[in-house]
Amino acid sequence: MSVSNGAEPNVAPAIRVEELCRHYRMGEALIRAVDGVSLTVPAGEFVALLGSSGSGKSSVLNLLAGLDRPTSGSVIVQEKNLAQLSREELARYRLHTVGMVFQSFNLIPNMTLAENVELPMRFAEVDRAKRDSMAREALARVGLQSRVNHRPSELSGGEQQRAALARALINRPQLLLADEPTGNLDSRTGTEIMNMVREFNQQLGMTVVMVTHERALAERYAQRLIFLADGKLVGDEVNSPVAAGSVAEGERS
Ligand code: ADP
Ligand code: MG
Repeated sequence: MSVSNGAEPNVAPAIRVEELCRHYRMGEALIRAVDGVSLTVPAGEFVALLGSSGSGKSSVLNLLAGLDRPTSGSVIVQEKNLAQLSREELARYRLHTVGMVFQSFNLIPNMTLAENVELPMRFAEVDRAKRDSMAREALARVGLQSRVNHRPSELSGGEQQRAALARALINRPQLLLADEPTGNLDSRTGTEIMNMVREFNQQLGMTVVMVTHERALAERYAQRLIFLADGKLVGDEVNSPVAAGSVAEGERS
């Protein structure tokens, strides 16, 4: 791995969000998509961001990912205030510190899985042989070693999401941001994906922030449930997730 700090001990808070606001102006109307959210996420925690449709979950996640800029307030990830980063630093942040998965997978259709997965490393200027071997390794990790030369359209939804997870993982980010990652999957396939996300959290020590509107899913996997309504944080609860491989989990899947 070229720039990997995944092995560092998890001490400092991974994320500090202070009085975060993201307002959209739509003609005369002002939409307060995110409206004064403050929260701290310790490194290594698995957090679920819950709320009904339109409550601001994706807006918060995109701000954490550095894909969008706040109207006011700040996002500090590993002591870096995203608002103070230069364009290049922000690009590096997106490439090395965060991995992201979406409800709609967002794979590039005319590329093979191997090409999709190695893309972030190409931007990181990793040489070709290394990219190739690491893409294969990441695909093997999510059980897709026999699909490296397939295109996304030749795969099931669950396989596409597994490839998207491999891509999110490839630069060894410390932070995994997932926006409704099981939203387009049946429950069995969704469970498979969630078990992988949990494995990344527990075995690789990645901090996970997962957006979902499904409370049952969040309760099963997350250590903490954060509730949004109308762009505001309206609840923050400690949760005891079901342990990996427990009987209760097997019964429910
Ligand atoms: P959620 O992910 O919880 O469904 P979003 O963060 O997508 O919610 O949206 C929160 C609110 O902000 C909604 O009212 C939505 O319509 C609005 N919104 C989101 N993105 C934009 C945008 N680019 N322009 C205008 N309004 C937006
Ligand atoms: Mg959303």
